[in-house]
Amino acid sequence: MMIDLHMHTTYSDGKNSIEDMVKVAIELGLEKIAITDHIWRSSEWFDKYHNEIVSLRQKYSQIDILVGFEAKALSINGEIDATNIMCKKADVKIGAIHRIPKDDILDNYLTRYEIKENKILAYNNWLIATKNMIKNNDVDIIAHPCMAIDKYSLQINQEDLYNLFKVANKYNKKLEISSRYKRSNIYLLNVLEQYPMFINNISYGSDAHCVEDLKKAYRDE
Ligand SMILES: [Zn+2]
Ligand SMILES: [Zn+2]
Repeated sequence: MMIDLHMHTTYSDGKNSIEDMVKVAIELGLEKIAITDHIWRSSEWFDKYHNEIVSLRQKYSQIDILVGFEAKALSINGEIDATNIMCKKADVKIGAIHRIPKDDILDNYLTRYEIKENKILAYNNWLIATKNMIKNNDVDIIAHPCMAIDKYSLQINQEDLYNLFKVANKYNKKLEISSRYKRSNIYLLNVLEQYPMFINNISYGSDAHCVEDLKKAYRDE
């Protein structure tokens, strides 16, 4: 079954409408997708977005369309930038680390300079925040889990990643293989090769930001 649980539309930084993405997903033979635009606690469009997805679900019954979102980690404690109502209404809740949290204060992040000066701290904060997001009841999937490792040239420890998979397994959560951050998939694939049982804790997402991204993700591979 072809499933893609990560894509964006004009509701956030994508270039195409939800309906455009749905049509192309059908063309490509996808059977289940989640629309997962970036949200913030302040995103007032969430209800409109939710209703639009639900009505498209009725219009295109040949594909299963889920309401999702991608929200960033707010601190090392793994809270995400979404309200309780958004979490209740979404079928697929993706948590992501785009910037590395500095401490347990909300919306406080390490700067690029601070990361360069103290890579051990940055790595530890990445690890703690990721682990806590996995444990967070309002998170189903961790987006591009090792993206920050590559982005900030941090050194990953295989055993730490194995432990993240163990936590994901315990909490029945998924780590994402991404068509957008291919290089950082390698870390996950290395662990999977050694521990194939963690395949149950893998989710697949194109992270497409336009219909061309979607086509590329399924036609090239
Ligand atoms: Zn992301
Ligand atoms: Zn994304």
